[in-house]
Amino acid sequence: MEITVPYQDRTLESPSLDRVRRLRRHLVRSLRDLRVAKHPDRLIQPYTAEPEGDVAAVLRAGCAACHGHCCLGGGEHAYLDERTMARVRRDRPDQDARGLIAAYVRDVAPMSYAGSCLFHGANGCTLDRALRADLCISYHCDGLTSFLRQAPAPSDVIIHAVRPGAASVRPGRNNAKVAPGREDETDG
Ligand code: SF4
Ligand code: SF4
Repeated sequence: MEITVPYQDRTLESPSLDRVRRLRRHLVRSLRDLRVAKHPDRLIQPYTAEPEGDVAAVLRAGCAACHGHCCLGGGEHAYLDERTMARVRRDRPDQDARGLIAAYVRDVAPMSYAGSCLFHGANGCTLDRALRADLCISYHCDGLTSFLRQAPAPSDVIIHAVRPGAASVRPGRNNAKVAPGREDETDG
């Protein structure tokens, strides 16, 4: 089977203090939204099971070839909101708001793709998987979704990484060594 994913090749840069401040502010707002929610328990999304085995290998290879195109919109919010905070606070009852914000800031990538999510590093997402937004955990682009819809899962997959709007193609296979990408070896 052949699938096509996008790819990005922005330069890496260290995050400015202002961007990290904006992340902090976003987290404070998200925690406040959770605090004032009428039914905070209802905000928690159903658990998204993590793919395993060969399927996971194909997804990792796709994201590695792509270098995390879907993370470019993450900016200083990383798609985090009160729903993520509801889940994280449930899972970390002993961690107060200050400690939680510190945990996020600690995971900011020392070098991230220019203008992309603050956790979008050269070796993939630097944010602890347990702290990520539900969207980051469950999202698959069209190319990966077309693979996931196959039953049984194809054993041999050729991955084409194509820059959106351009004709250049970077080939990869599902046995490719995983390097950068959204789902990398740092995933928990
Ligand atoms: S899901 Fe993976 S392959 Fe698809 S756009 Fe995101 S990082 Fe790229
Ligand atoms: S997966 Fe990681 S790098 Fe990508 S948007 Fe989410 S938090 Fe940011």
